[in-house]
Amino acid sequence: MNMDPRWGDWKDAPPPVNETEIVETIDCDIAVAGAGIAGVTCACRAAQNGLKAVVLEKSGKWNARGGNIGVANSAFMRSMGYENDLEELAREWIKRCCSRCDETVLWRYLLNSEHAMNWLLDIVTRPEYGVRPELQACLYRGDTYFEHMGSHRFFDGPMAKKGARPGASDAVYAMYTESLKYNARYLMNTPAVQLEKTDGRITAVIGKNDKGYVRVRAAKGVVLATGDIGGNEEMCADLAPMAAACKSSTYSPRGVNTGDGHRMGLWAGGTFEDGPFPIIFHPQAFSFANYCFMFVNRSGKRFMNEDNNIQAKSVTLRRIGQDYAWSILDGSWAEMIPASLEYGGGIFWGLDHAPGESGFTVEGTKRIFDMARRSGSYVEAETPQSLAEQMGVPPEVFVSTLREYNEMCRNQKDVLFGKRKELLMPLETPPYIGLKFGPSVLAVVGGLRVDGNCAVLDAQGNVIPGLYAAGNTMGGRYGVDYAMVIPGTSHGTALTFGWLLGEILAGRNIL
Ligand SMILES: Cc1cc2nc3c(=O)[nH]c(=O)nc-3n(C[C@H](O)[C@H](O)[C@H](O)COP(=O)(O)OP(=O)(O)OC[C@H]3O[C@@H](n4cnc5c(N)ncnc54)[C@H](O)[C@@H]3O)c2cc1C
Repeated sequence: MNMDPRWGDWKDAPPPVNETEIVETIDCDIAVAGAGIAGVTCACRAAQNGLKAVVLEKSGKWNARGGNIGVANSAFMRSMGYENDLEELAREWIKRCCSRCDETVLWRYLLNSEHAMNWLLDIVTRPEYGVRPELQACLYRGDTYFEHMGSHRFFDGPMAKKGARPGASDAVYAMYTESLKYNARYLMNTPAVQLEKTDGRITAVIGKNDKGYVRVRAAKGVVLATGDIGGNEEMCADLAPMAAACKSSTYSPRGVNTGDGHRMGLWAGGTFEDGPFPIIFHPQAFSFANYCFMFVNRSGKRFMNEDNNIQAKSVTLRRIGQDYAWSILDGSWAEMIPASLEYGGGIFWGLDHAPGESGFTVEGTKRIFDMARRSGSYVEAETPQSLAEQMGVPPEVFVSTLREYNEMCRNQKDVLFGKRKELLMPLETPPYIGLKFGPSVLAVVGGLRVDGNCAVLDAQGNVIPGLYAAGNTMGGRYGVDYAMVIPGTSHGTALTFGWLLGEILAGRNIL
């Protein structure tokens, strides 16, 4: 997608920084903008490969969040008896992205994610980090959006012990600490603001700190790894309108993911993948669970096949312009939920668990209900009429929707939305329960067009020498929607392309 004149002012490059305002110049091999999972991985691998790496970070520390790191295979997976067929993953991914992902980029991920994960596992399992890896077996099992094994979580590391979700935080902490041993340098509270081009090549990135501007000259390249555009309303309005319309975001820290790398890349002659950009939506704005039984919108009517994965549920709510819906259960939930997991599942339906463990426990589910109750997202009543009143949906419509639904369950045929008969379980045992759930934006996963070496491409499809992008700043991974072929591929691709860039810039693994 080339620059569109209708886009807001964000597309316009600022005037170059005045030479007199540069207070410091640093020379290095690679300059990385952003100390998230992509940037820290890149700096760590590059430094291990003997390159002098300097990282500019907008906030005061490295950043990470979330639990699942999805890769195609790993030595750990193989040791547990799991191996994915890469061709099957590729076909599935391309199908779900309607061929709008970049197949070269996708195959670079598929072929290299195992190397990147094995390398990371080697670091995080050292005694000083003490991570215990585990696979996420909470997967959607429906045949249409089947999720494959490959999502890794990291338990017992220093960050998890401090209360972080077991996963990305311990990965990034360990890589950051490791990179320091190889003399990677981090300039915290120093956002990258501009790139410098000399004779057509990107030669430096300018950062801004409380003393003035810092020029970081990079002999081998500048890597844009500043995350996504989700925190920039104007950019979302132009490039990801569904994200702009969504009131809830769970990204942290607030205010850093403002598409700075996207803009710097664009100003330097880069282009974006075609829009609208794909978005990671999770249905976690209210309750942390929704299951697959009967969903009603604010009019008290069903609006979708409830048997679907988390991305589909969130996107459908956004498409109908609603911030939330109600998921209905009844007093037999302790039997219904586990019975449904065989056919569906995945996060926000089953509980996080390792292979061989159950995705359901009564206590774990009660904890989710209690959390929802405390936030006003759980209601319970002895009659459908009273439940509807508590949910604030028209009682007559809801009662009739429920009657119709129960009739379809008895007939084992969903004539409205075609839900599989195995999941048609009548809701007629009091107390009736309503769980409010709605979509939240985690990240917008579209970005700068790159080639298979993560080199940013101009409008003619030529590489801009010296300029690279990784993580959510790069394009080509998804195209249409966040394809959950393996859960956690936003982290998994950030890790893989960060690692790959640490190789490529050291003269290895070049396509
Ligand atoms: C609550 C939550 C849970 C999630 N869980 C998962 C999960 O389980 N699995 C998964 O795959 N994904 C998950 N995600 C998505 C995932 O966190 C991101 O997609 C991923 O971290 C992107 O990595 P990144 O390195 O590209 O960007 P980020 O992690 O966003 O890092 C970008 C970094 O760049 C810095 N920065 C920004 N602008 C500048 C600038 N101008 N100069 C210098 N630095 C800058 C930022 O401060 C930040 O440190 C989750 C997201 C959220 C919000």
